[in-house]
Amino acid sequence: MDAIVHALSAGVLVELLLEGERRWRGPLPGGRAALGAAALVLGALSHLALDALPHFNIVPHLSSWMGYLPRHWITRTVIVGAIAGLFVLVNTRERWGTAALAVVGAASPDIEKIAHTDAGMDPRYLVFRDHGTRASSFDGGYDHRTLAYVEIGMVVFLALLCLALARRRRGALRRGAAA
Ligand SMILES: [Zn+2]
Repeated sequence: MDAIVHALSAGVLVELLLEGERRWRGPLPGGRAALGAAALVLGALSHLALDALPHFNIVPHLSSWMGYLPRHWITRTVIVGAIAGLFVLVNTRERWGTAALAVVGAASPDIEKIAHTDAGMDPRYLVFRDHGTRASSFDGGYDHRTLAYVEIGMVVFLALLCLALARRRRGALRRGAAA
């Protein structure tokens, strides 16, 4: 799936983890370090789960944008993914460290995939070998235009969900501070 979908899913994930932390009674086992580790691992797992859904991958296909560059699909993916990652960090700025770990986790399967397919990294060192050695994305036999629209819809939905969850979290913190 597109890097932007993975980054925004990490944004939703970290907001859900912070909500869990807020509702947890007593000290969190392992503290913030454990929460960061959970964000990293769950981020990576969310990537694999999303890639298991039929998808098209819009950004790598936008060859009219920077198509003159060598490996232009990677450049586009990195730019768009970085913007989405930055959005998540700003949205969850009070806990940007945890948010960054979720984003890195969510990007990690594709980072090692690029390291393998474009930089020749030995597949034996891939953590997610099945994902890293698979060249094409999984479309499930669906029409690519339909999948592209679904992907755009997911981006809008996930971005709005990130904003709504952060707003709710800040509201709950303010109420907690006032009580
Ligand atoms: Zn992937």
